[in-house]
Amino acid sequence: MRPNTMKALEKSRPEEGLWMVQAPVPEIGPDEVLIRVKKTGICGTDIHIWNWDEWASHTVPVPMITGHEFAGEIVELGRNVTGLKIGQRCSGEGHLIGTDSRQSRAGKFHLDPGTRGIGVNEQGAFAQYLKLPAFNVVPLPDDIPDEIGAILDPLGNAVHTALSFDLLGEDVLITGAGPIGIMAAAVARHAGARHVVITDINPDRLALAQHVVPSVRAVNVAKEELQSVISDLGMSQGFDVGLEMSGSQAALDQMVEALVMGGKIALLGIPPGKSPVDWSRIVFKAITIKGVYGREMFETWYKMIAMLQNGLDVSRVITHRFAADDFAQGFAAMKSGKSGKVVLDWA
Ligand code: ZN
Repeated sequence: MRPNTMKALEKSRPEEGLWMVQAPVPEIGPDEVLIRVKKTGICGTDIHIWNWDEWASHTVPVPMITGHEFAGEIVELGRNVTGLKIGQRCSGEGHLIGTDSRQSRAGKFHLDPGTRGIGVNEQGAFAQYLKLPAFNVVPLPDDIPDEIGAILDPLGNAVHTALSFDLLGEDVLITGAGPIGIMAAAVARHAGARHVVITDINPDRLALAQHVVPSVRAVNVAKEELQSVISDLGMSQGFDVGLEMSGSQAALDQMVEALVMGGKIALLGIPPGKSPVDWSRIVFKAITIKGVYGREMFETWYKMIAMLQNGLDVSRVITHRFAADDFAQGFAAMKSGKSGKVVLDWA
């Protein structure tokens, strides 16, 4: 029944690229499950690992099976595992946590300082089989298809960021129209925001944002001033909440300017290094800033699945689908800057 080897997309050598290899099927421990992977999503993180940039070369040991966005089916259960069944469709949290830290013992698992990531620090999901602690498994309801299951990790980033602050009736500015920014726009609408504006300087991404969430206003800040959008939409002062998804210093500056007194900002975008911030502006505007990392275990997962079952539709953010063997085309689509989510099929 259980094969000895599997196809896996691996960083085999410390240089640019990824290679499809035959790897051993993982052996599971008593508290783990083995998942047969069906679909995976390519993340920006995987592009860094492909490119073998400074972050990747300092972070990722080789050889390493990459990938952390997945959906699949449980095919083996460790002997201590209860509450899960063979054949259960699932996705899962790719952050592996310990249980000894103060944060974990307080139930704030997403703040555990010892967090390790699959596909980054531990063997990942771009493979026919993945081992995962049973604790990290998130069962998929029948009405959520595998390809949506494969993008729950980045949707979770979007949900965690968007739900950082109360959005009901608020005017929301999202800077950065990558897939996570676009999904955050959909979540903000679903959560009852009044006006949702998403900015970028890449026309393809803005067009995709408008396609995925027709009710948002996509603004090219290379061509249009946010102040004119604010008066156009009839806001008296500016945006109540900002979701920064780009890591761009210019975007953060624009966001601070476009926010109301006492506005709130959730930061998910990662600046390339240290970047100058006009802190006096933030102080005098009495702005609250929150850094966001990963997803809340497992409240974000609960909320996003509930929203997907209650009409949240992010399916159009998936723009490319390839067989796993054609992974190079998938990575090329990602690197073009024109794609939304790219999904690989391992079944
Ligand atoms: Zn990801």
